[in-house]
Amino acid sequence: MYLILFGAPGVGKGTQAKILSSKLNIPHISTGDILRAAVKAQTILGIKAQKILSAGELVSDEIMIGIIKEVLTDPKCSKGFLLDGFPRTLAQATAFDELLKELNLMDKILLISLDTNEEELIVRLTNRRACSNCQSIFILKDIKDLDKCPNCGAVNSFYHRSDDQEEVIRRRFGIFQSATLPILEHYEKMGKVISVDGFQPVERVTEDILNCLAKISDNKNSISA
Ligand code: AMP
Repeated sequence: MYLILFGAPGVGKGTQAKILSSKLNIPHISTGDILRAAVKAQTILGIKAQKILSAGELVSDEIMIGIIKEVLTDPKCSKGFLLDGFPRTLAQATAFDELLKELNLMDKILLISLDTNEEELIVRLTNRRACSNCQSIFILKDIKDLDKCPNCGAVNSFYHRSDDQEEVIRRRFGIFQSATLPILEHYEKMGKVISVDGFQPVERVTEDILNCLAKISDNKNSISA
């Protein structure tokens, strides 16, 4: 399966992507994770991206398209992928469509939209913490022991992402509305969008997505039978 997970910052794309990637056995490609790893390793890309990420702004289309071309043409993505955080602008979507055509995947791509409500998302984002070791994300009230990551056991590894501060979040929302939301219409016109309520509990969101994907696959099978 070739999937784009789409939604506002903090709606739970990363959480769903991890679950779906393991259930569907396809690699999870998070452009945010790729950039954060580059910042941590202080590569040339990381040094360029550091300030942009902290300010909640977007890295240039040219850089992002270059990264995604390299990742998606890797053999590990030949049987499917789950994109989280890309495309984020219409220019990225257009370049991505060209790449999909080259790879003969245009008729296979689907976009899963996690629908949201801005104010609830702000509360969720300001209360979330990430583990610097395994990159898992938790809501503060769900962490029993703040000294130890419940996923990987790392000690004192929680941090508040600089792009999860309220002022930065509001800027990320503005950018989402103006630069990223038009992508939804772009793929809706092609009949490639599945919409799911992103404010349900994590398991329900996953269930809804898997049910929609199963229905689409049943329809395709019955058409080709
Ligand atoms: P995320 O983890 O997806 O919220 O991404 C964190 C940050 O990485 C974003 O706020 C952007 O600064 C940058 N970023 C991630 N993906 C993209 C993209 N496709 N285009 C531009 N910037 C991106």
